[in-house]
Amino acid sequence: MTLKEALKLSPEEIAQVREALAQKIAQSDLNAYVALDMAGSGIPIAIKDNIQVQGWSVTSGSKILKGYIAPYNATVIEKLHAAGLSPFGRTNMDEFAMGSTTESSCYGRTLNPHNKGCVPGGSSGGSAAAVAGGLAIAALGSDTGGSIRQPAAFCGIVGLKPTYGRVSRYGLGAYASSLDQIGPMTQNVEDAALLYDIICGHDPKDSTSADIAYAPTAPNLSANRKLTVAILPKYVEGASEAVRAGYTKAISALKAAGHTIVERELLDPKYDISAYYITATAEATTNLARYDGIRYGARVEGDNLKDTFIRTRSEGFGDEVKRRIMLGNFVLSSGYYDAYYVKAQKVRQLIKHEYETIFQEVDLILSPVAPSTAYPFGALEDPLTMYLSDIYTISVNLAGLPSIALPVDRDAQGLPVGMQLIGRAYDEQTVLDGAYSLELQLKTQE
Ligand code: GLN
Repeated sequence: MTLKEALKLSPEEIAQVREALAQKIAQSDLNAYVALDMAGSGIPIAIKDNIQVQGWSVTSGSKILKGYIAPYNATVIEKLHAAGLSPFGRTNMDEFAMGSTTESSCYGRTLNPHNKGCVPGGSSGGSAAAVAGGLAIAALGSDTGGSIRQPAAFCGIVGLKPTYGRVSRYGLGAYASSLDQIGPMTQNVEDAALLYDIICGHDPKDSTSADIAYAPTAPNLSANRKLTVAILPKYVEGASEAVRAGYTKAISALKAAGHTIVERELLDPKYDISAYYITATAEATTNLARYDGIRYGARVEGDNLKDTFIRTRSEGFGDEVKRRIMLGNFVLSSGYYDAYYVKAQKVRQLIKHEYETIFQEVDLILSPVAPSTAYPFGALEDPLTMYLSDIYTISVNLAGLPSIALPVDRDAQGLPVGMQLIGRAYDEQTVLDGAYSLELQLKTQE
């Protein structure tokens, strides 16, 4: 059942849907959810484990937050309630949203519904697997460098990362505050528009929230606008054969739907990786300093206060989180700050400028979401290889732009191939319109 369909149901019917989902989840071995909540009465929405829901144990997939109970609702949760939707369960994720596979969660890994030997992507892998596996009508995820779009692509669903500032971050467990955005993960483009309309809007509780007027996208969703779409032939060269084939297929479908295709180029993505991993780890170091065993969650008592901090953090954080805290402290330390952090901010400006230049002439940019389709567990064990797999998603966060991932093809093993359409800041309507048109066109070709 889609969100659009669910929005028409009576309260009794919604209660039945909830019950049926809970039964399916109990029988599922995907490990998409880490906890369920049957108390709500609205349309059930799956919530990533880093979004505050009052009264829930919210842990960001980390041992260090075990025992912490959220004392308030994130703004997006208040907005769900106001629209007759309710949080239904916490979905699994990489610890503190750091990762691309959901393997770094303290609750163990989530399986890809299309092939249980493969990763569902990450960090919002639980939300993606829940929607793809028929265990959720729709879900919320968060995207700092691709964590909505990449698991959406690996699981064959739709994921929208809104423009930075469009959706309130109040109540989102911070990873990298200048990059994080909450967004919808859904079965189709129309549902993404519906859920986006519900959660977006200015919020005085988030100082980075954009006070910019918006019109609801779902009632205006149109597959008939003729758009100019930039493609990036050089940028795509490094992707796998299946992803390149999917790219070609998406281009043909866009042409067939009447859109104009033009060729453009982007900066070598190796600069994106460096700028992103310096910025994200620097911000993460600062954000994660608050987990000290005193204020939230788990504590390991030591001989004195400092020892308590050290023991709590040594035992509470996993390896990937520790690695990033060290890297973040390094790039912020005096002597290295100018060489790394300041430089990364300059590169970030260049990336932003490059996108702005392209968007003077085009409405959308078509890009792969990931260099490959979903891979087996453990395949990217080396952290650097894992970081490199983010090449197609992170520049969008660095530039603060909206982007939607949607399924366009299958690889030889039957695994989904996703593509993304990137748009101008605050122009979610065009992003959704382009994706809707592509989705419908691909359906007619089936
Ligand atoms: N894989 C990227 C990282 O680990 C992106 C994660 C995300 O968007 N939360 O930083």
